Amino acid sequence: MGIRDWGPPRFRAPTPDPQPPTPGVFVNAIVLFGSPGSGKGTQAKLLTGCLHVPQVSTGDMLREHIGRGNELGRAVAERLHSGALVSDEVVDALVEERLAMPDAARGFVLDGYPRTLAQADHLCRWLDSRGIREVVIHLAVDYNVVIARLTGRRQCPRCGTLYNIVSKPPRVDMLCDLDGEKLVIRDDDREEVIRERLEAYERQTRPVLEYLKLAGRRVVEVDASNDPPDVVFRKICQATECDDRSEDCR
Ligand code: ADP
Repeated sequence: MGIRDWGPPRFRAPTPDPQPPTPGVFVNAIVLFGSPGSGKGTQAKLLTGCLHVPQVSTGDMLREHIGRGNELGRAVAERLHSGALVSDEVVDALVEERLAMPDAARGFVLDGYPRTLAQADHLCRWLDSRGIREVVIHLAVDYNVVIARLTGRRQCPRCGTLYNIVSKPPRVDMLCDLDGEKLVIRDDDREEVIRERLEAYERQTRPVLEYLKLAGRRVVEVDASNDPPDVVFRKICQATECDDRSEDCR
């Protein structure tokens, strides 16, 4: 199903991928799982630099459509801004189309997907039909740490750089280090939206972890509460054994 011909959610016959990964061939398929504020985006960027595979972030893809102001963007904007999840049909289609692109044939880092049981089921079928063995990394973070991270987050509206008023403040109060722009609070980092995002996580996303474990998928727990990003990254590298695969990892 293509993004361009996206319409109201409905089922469609699957279309063949332009360049599907060869079944049974080793693919670096990493699923980063964790609550909002667990550091999925940060770790995804470190991993993509190391493994030379794309980061597939459903949140970023959805925000991109909103930014473009296209039909899909207009349809999902309200849910994103309220902190609620977007429908499974929409994100499944986005992910499928992205994973079928040639740069994902050697692997990918999924960031923010799957987030519901239906999405997890969809992904497992997609992976199994291609003989791809994934590793799910659960970034486990203490609830209070998550709250502090999310409420303290500030972003440069011009270049997108993220800061945290406690753990990663800008050099000059509230101004971006790179371009001097005044930092802002992202729409979905407002307090009432944070509450809704965390509730959605507890209600719809946390059960996915148990589902994946019961389904016999490879799930690795990584404590990501207190360590700085590079230390968490090392733990992930060890868990995925990616040190053996790329010199950039070392
Ligand atoms: P965070 O993980 O910090 O909440 P994301 O950028 O991953 O931030 O997601 C932002 C928003 O995008 C979510 O609150 C939700 O509205 C939407 N979204 C992202 N991924 C999914 C998904 N897999 N299923 C449904 N909605 C999603």
